[in-house]
Amino acid sequence: MMKKIMAAAIGLVAAYTVLPTVFTRSTSYGIVQNNGMPGIMLTFDDGPNPQYTPQLLDLLKRYDIKAIFFVVAEKAERHPELIKRMQREGHVIGLHHYTHVNSYLLSPVGLYRELEHAKDVIEQLTHEAITLYRPTYGHISLATLPVARKLDLTPVLWSGIFGDWKIQTCQTTLLQKLHAKRQDGAIYVLHDCGQNRGADDAAPAYMLHQLSQFLHQATLSGQQFTDSKVWLATHGH
Ligand SMILES: [Zn+2]
Repeated sequence: MMKKIMAAAIGLVAAYTVLPTVFTRSTSYGIVQNNGMPGIMLTFDDGPNPQYTPQLLDLLKRYDIKAIFFVVAEKAERHPELIKRMQREGHVIGLHHYTHVNSYLLSPVGLYRELEHAKDVIEQLTHEAITLYRPTYGHISLATLPVARKLDLTPVLWSGIFGDWKIQTCQTTLLQKLHAKRQDGAIYVLHDCGQNRGADDAAPAYMLHQLSQFLHQATLSGQQFTDSKVWLATHGH
């Protein structure tokens, strides 16, 4: 009896968490994982960070690349000048929750409140409608798609994720992995803040160094980068 109850409970938890993630990731149902254009689109999660985000913006400006910043709204509230700078320099801003909470731990109502709050905060800062959403940890719960639809948000995942939140990865394999995932329509995710659990605080410094090398080498070999604003106007939902 006990075993059956346990099995049913595990089944219910999986139906709310892992199964919707696996289903949407393998079918792209209701989410974006390819930018549909010839270049790589760069996206950055977890910022803004007062130390690293300005350096990243400088680097992107040097290569005239327009990225998407999926920001944590409580950090955006603390650093509104960085959000304004992203906007001024032609980048697109999307949501990455209000507090970086894991959506597997939120009820549908809890997720709705989290995203509604984040959207309100960022829209007040930007005076623009925010329509893109990067779920934390890439976790899609059973509530994610209906809640996102209700708030007019399109969930954007990625085709390339590289473990750049660890200094060791940045120092060893990051550059090679950035080259290996180059293809038309690619969406890369990197991180301009290292303050989440499991991340190294200083990892973005090492990421930036490798990204700088990558952009230098890739542009020399003719690699295109998708302009996130153009993408949003033509392919974003
Ligand atoms: Zn994140």
